[in-house]
Amino acid sequence: NKTVKDMYKICVIEGDGIGREVVPATVNVLKATGVDFEFVHAEAGDEVFEKTGVALPEETINTAKECDAVLFGAAGETAADVIVKLRKILNTYANVRPVKAYKGINCLKDNIDYVIVRENTEGLYKGIEAEITDGVYTATRVITREACEKIFKFAFEMAKDRKKQGKEGKVTCTHKANVLKLSDGAFKSIFYEVAKNYPEIKTNDFYIDAMNMYAVLRPETFDVVVTSNLFGDILSDGAAGTVGGLGMAPSANIGDEYGLFEPVHGSAPDIAGKGIANPTATILTGVLMLRYLGENKAADRVEKALEEVLENKLTTPDLGGTLTTFEMAEEVAKRV
Ligand code: ATP
Ligand code: MG
Repeated sequence: NKTVKDMYKICVIEGDGIGREVVPATVNVLKATGVDFEFVHAEAGDEVFEKTGVALPEETINTAKECDAVLFGAAGETAADVIVKLRKILNTYANVRPVKAYKGINCLKDNIDYVIVRENTEGLYKGIEAEITDGVYTATRVITREACEKIFKFAFEMAKDRKKQGKEGKVTCTHKANVLKLSDGAFKSIFYEVAKNYPEIKTNDFYIDAMNMYAVLRPETFDVVVTSNLFGDILSDGAAGTVGGLGMAPSANIGDEYGLFEPVHGSAPDIAGKGIANPTATILTGVLMLRYLGENKAADRVEKALEEVLENKLTTPDLGGTLTTFEMAEEVAKRV
């Protein structure tokens, strides 16, 4: 819900591995939109850690905070100290992962188009672990009313927006309230409390195990799916698999003040430096960033250009084409 501005400052963190390829390729596509961007480059990840002993320099954090959005590639071994930390510092409580079937891609069904909204700040990711006695380990899963209310409100607002664009207008809550009676019992009941403020939006809820099956059997029936941190992590990788895999999966981390945009994949050291990394996930991440900034027309143009490129198989080898990362991105940029 940002107001459209004349110029945006974007903090660009390429990071490690294929981040150094897919991010510059995406920056070229963003430049082709004609939207006025100032790209401010900052360092984070394994390489800067090896040079300086710090994976996420103070300067990078400051740049991220000064900019209108952050575009992030990948961090290798230092991921936990970089991206997980950055999400925390910027308090991006919602992790948004669209699951959408594009023509020309090997998808489970051709009419898949939903969004997974994952709570990004608590659950099992609080990292509260202990060895309570010899050989007995515990991990504490934290669910708070405050974080639940925020993430559900976010999911319902997203469903409202999507309904305006012709989608069903439905939020599905997924949890394990039958076993985690207190914590996920609360998660589920707060979901239906928040739902009362959105009478125009349909609701339903499933146990996470069943949801996982439905994501394969009838993925076309979902619109917005909201869940807690670890369930969202597991569900979204599986869901990415139904629409072409990691090379196709974008994500956004959204908070009240900051937006941090990153492909779901990591640094992919096995293919780094070869020019064969698929830039689609990061280009789609750029589309999410444009929408966050309120530049919806530019976002539509990039998405349409990408659709054409995918349909015509002007792609990297993983999608059956013969182009390099930069060549594929150039085909998109040309059409923007
Ligand atoms: P990291 O520890 O940084 O997550 P990783 O070895 O787990 O690195 P990922 O980036 O998570 O690697 O990707 C897993 C595999 O999926 C890679 O080995 C790679 O073959 C493939 N892959 C990931 N991203 C892409 C992409 N953009 N284009 C093509 N293949 C990809
Ligand atoms: Mg990985």
